[in-house]
Amino acid sequence: MLNLSYECPENFEGQTFTIMRVPAGKSLQGIITCSKPLGTPTHFWGGRTIPCTPPSCEACKAGSFSRYHFYTTVYDHRSQLHFLLELTAAAAEPIIQYGRDRGTTLGCGIRCNRIPEVSNGRIHIQTTMTDPQKYPIPEEPNLPAILSRLWNIPLEEIKTPDTKKIIPAIEISPESKLRHANRLRQTISNNGGK
Ligand SMILES: [Zn+2]
Repeated sequence: MLNLSYECPENFEGQTFTIMRVPAGKSLQGIITCSKPLGTPTHFWGGRTIPCTPPSCEACKAGSFSRYHFYTTVYDHRSQLHFLLELTAAAAEPIIQYGRDRGTTLGCGIRCNRIPEVSNGRIHIQTTMTDPQKYPIPEEPNLPAILSRLWNIPLEEIKTPDTKKIIPAIEISPESKLRHANRLRQTISNNGGK
């Protein structure tokens, strides 16, 4: 049976993000809506860009070379399109540098062009600070979740720099704590207290 409704289901995961690449002969503009772009080695495999997933990477086994790509979400206020931008590591460098300088890439205005204006032309990105009063930044999307959907890889199988390693707590008895403290004191005095 086909069920039609006027309402979104409660577990609706939100909008999908179209993946965009910098076109030739036209500039791509927008504001970055994520605080840190994420990068990973990828392969051009089966007619599309897929992530390299060692140790069981089919593309690696077939001898396909990998290329590092960065992913960031971008909002274009003119078209009101919120999309996923794919960039090579070299092209993404100005954005990464903006993040290093300011601690976040959120709100970073970008203008991307290809020089020369051909499909494989080098990507040049100009970054600027933007006024959030004039150009409000949409709520930060969950970038790993977007990539999980894009590549059909369960979120649990995606490791991000923020993934916390769960280390089981070790019970330390008061005696061994004391021994450890004494050993530490000994080491410090052996090093001349430095
Ligand atoms: Zn691979």
